[in-house]
Amino acid sequence: MSSQKIFLFDFDGVIVDGMHEYWHSSLLACEKYLNSHCISVNQKLYKTVPNSFKEIRPWVKYGWEMILIVHEIIKTENPLKSDNKDDFINNYHHNCQKILNDNSWNAEDLQKILDKSRQFQIDKDFKSWVNLHNPFFEVISFMQELKKRQIKAGIITTKGGIFAEKILKQLNIFPEFIFGYESGTKIKIAEKLTKTYEILGFIEDRKKTLIDIKQNSETSHIPCFLADWGYLKESDKNKLSNEIKLLKLDSIQELVAI
Ligand SMILES: [Mg+2]
Repeated sequence: MSSQKIFLFDFDGVIVDGMHEYWHSSLLACEKYLNSHCISVNQKLYKTVPNSFKEIRPWVKYGWEMILIVHEIIKTENPLKSDNKDDFINNYHHNCQKILNDNSWNAEDLQKILDKSRQFQIDKDFKSWVNLHNPFFEVISFMQELKKRQIKAGIITTKGGIFAEKILKQLNIFPEFIFGYESGTKIKIAEKLTKTYEILGFIEDRKKTLIDIKQNSETSHIPCFLADWGYLKESDKNKLSNEIKLLKLDSIQELVAI
């Protein structure tokens, strides 16, 4: 058995802040591919990310949910706004499901049009698409430090792997692997990786994912770090079990400073 050391990273909210890209790509998907009669897309909408979208982002697990949220925000009748978002959030999964049903959509199709929207922008103006992402430079330099120490870095994301790869390449980061949503659930991927690698840590901004890792007997030994700088719900920081450590951006280097 190999004992190659590795750190695992989530992508969105951990390595990059892609808020503008999520809004832009989901809005473009609504405009170009969704065919909904409930919306009309005005070009001004692309300029600013509404607060309601930023506020709901911590509840999002998969990209397709963002299309649905953007659709609700830009609806001409009864749009989702900051002041009525709590009802939506309080029953988040049920509401997403209901909107899918009401519109006769399915998650796979929405995910496909999000990927299509990204690919459209990449083909049209790659640089502009990349520039919608803001990397967390402390994380990038931590990844470079890992490389110096011959510790690998691996990415597990719910984004399409190809899109994460394109952005990382621009940042001059070439991880050992990138597993996107097409590779299965994070927990199953982590289970497999424990057979090949010595996992020094998993840095993720979705608390539920880390809880699942800790509750699975095959992966419970993986040190789990909740990225304080990511898309967290207010309550995530308060009720942390002591198995999951809250990690601050300015102390990320300490994970390898021995
Ligand atoms: Mg994330």
